[in-house]
Amino acid sequence: MQCLKALKAAKRFLSYQTHKTGRSVILEISAICNAQCAYCQTGFNNRNGSGCKENPFISVELFTRIVQYLKAQRFLTAGTLLNLYSWGEPLLHPEFATLVHVATQEHCLLGLSTNANYLPKLPNNFDASHIAVVYISMPGFSQASYDKIHRFDFEHIKANIQRLVQDFRSHGFFGIFDIRFHVYRFNQAEIAPAQAFAQSLGIAFHPYYAYINDGARVARYFQGTLDAAYRQQAADDLFMDYYDPYFKPSTTCPMLNRTYLDVQGRCALCCMNGTTVGSIFDHTLSSLTKARDQHPACQACRQSGLASVMNTCINYDFTLNDTSTKGLRYFYQCLKTCFLSHQ
Ligand code: SF4
Ligand code: SF4
Repeated sequence: MQCLKALKAAKRFLSYQTHKTGRSVILEISAICNAQCAYCQTGFNNRNGSGCKENPFISVELFTRIVQYLKAQRFLTAGTLLNLYSWGEPLLHPEFATLVHVATQEHCLLGLSTNANYLPKLPNNFDASHIAVVYISMPGFSQASYDKIHRFDFEHIKANIQRLVQDFRSHGFFGIFDIRFHVYRFNQAEIAPAQAFAQSLGIAFHPYYAYINDGARVARYFQGTLDAAYRQQAADDLFMDYYDPYFKPSTTCPMLNRTYLDVQGRCALCCMNGTTVGSIFDHTLSSLTKARDQHPACQACRQSGLASVMNTCINYDFTLNDTSTKGLRYFYQCLKTCFLSHQ
């Protein structure tokens, strides 16, 4: 059974490579997150008690209708990825396994990102073979770093990451686990131990400079109008100057290749600007691209230089050119957890 799943997953990934469109869909299934990251729009709201007020989870019925519509309108093809997160924690969805099942029935290739604090209960027949990538975001590799950013118990997170890797692989996950290590000024000495941890699990590891992942605030950062306390905190913690050279006007925005949907099925301009341009059911691929491209907020964003910065910050693809997923250790760990420990 596992061998059959492995074979089908390999064919699916190959088909993705062959038919790759350069487009993807971001469908938020949970509008909430349990972390309190100071530089994230969701985490910042959590710190200030002003989080999501409406129903935070997409219903299974709406999710099913949206996925079928996305396929019918060719937003989703064999060469596009359906990501089940934007700035919410997808594993919090009480019917997470059902949503994955629905997407699997519809032959979608899935992407996830998690902070690994909460793991859903998976039924015995859970099939993870359509999940191509799971990003695990880490704000450091010590309790002190977790106290500063996510505000989680670090040992609990490490144990959960080990369990997540084991559980998903034993349920037929043959994709890429990738630790996205957010580099802050205070955690540079933690990169090496975090990388060793990733290697011990046979999973990919990518450090990158943390940034202000909140469109309105990042705009104020570049305009010099951030409130003084927040600006000082950002200067103490972040390497925002790394992104300074990218602040230059552009005529296009690669984010237009990603379709952003919230838990109600509304289309947002992007993950950095939640302005909505109608329901997905009112759009075709070309009408939505046009509505976003011509939106005054998008035009201003490109002209100001913000679009270039934001695209530099959010630049990832699950087909990583990454040697850590090709070494012997990776194959050994993958074989061990996919096959040898499978019950
Ligand atoms: S950065 Fe990720 S983990 Fe942190 S609050 Fe935002 S969505 Fe949650
Ligand atoms: S132009 Fe700006 S607001 Fe529009 S999609 Fe790109 S980054 Fe988002």
